[in-house]
Amino acid sequence: MRKYIIAGNWKMQKNLSEAIQLVSDLKNELEGKDIIAEVVIAPPFMALEAVKSLIKNSVIKLSAQNMHSADSGAFTGEVSADMLKSVGCEYVILGHSERRTIFGETDEFINSKIKQALKNNLIPIVCCGESLDERENGTTFNIIESQIKAAFNGLTNEQAEKLVIAYEPIWAIGTGKTASPEQAQEVHAFIRKIIAGLTTQEIANGLTIQYGGSVKPDNAKELLSKPDIDGALVGGACLKADSFRDIILSV
Ligand code: PEP
Repeated sequence: MRKYIIAGNWKMQKNLSEAIQLVSDLKNELEGKDIIAEVVIAPPFMALEAVKSLIKNSVIKLSAQNMHSADSGAFTGEVSADMLKSVGCEYVILGHSERRTIFGETDEFINSKIKQALKNNLIPIVCCGESLDERENGTTFNIIESQIKAAFNGLTNEQAEKLVIAYEPIWAIGTGKTASPEQAQEVHAFIRKIIAGLTTQEIANGLTIQYGGSVKPDNAKELLSKPDIDGALVGGACLKADSFRDIILSV
């Protein structure tokens, strides 16, 4: 059964005391509420352990924002899947457009991280999305198809069905511009069709495909009402407990 997942990507924001405050506020905001979606938060690495202990008896699940593909070794500044598991992560965001564009991550590297996450029982939230140029020159679907094919390269069906996909048009991230529900639905349905071709229709139907890009309390409901939009990956609006709560409760 397809699951709705609302995930909050904190990016490089919140020091330790601010992280503790935000997660405590979020817990309070969600207490006693009827929550249908799976709720996931991705704080910065240095706050993961403290946040994990605070969410222990709550509905909130823990994600990292990135990881390396190797088991361990001389990779200064990097974090391994095993390290993330050891602090209680269940999810890891991979291939975020900021990782692709600012840090030069390639489709191949992202694919190797996906395999490493799965090997370590972490659920990868795999991001894909086109730039403004690509949307304007009509290559959105080619870009999405090649990113999705690269992400699934070499995965068995058993592995593939564990993935979560996040469609995040780069032009909508942090810009206040949201894809219209129709634009997003069109790409989500396309992603599901590509995945069905790579795996099976049943697996594609069961996968969660989140939308990300300036999701806010006032546009979440309409986006999430579309048949192929199964959740949201939220940046800016997850940094305030009440706005993230409102997005969670839009499901
Ligand atoms: C993101 O970074 O994944 C994102 C969608 O950010 P924002 O919601 O701020 O556009």
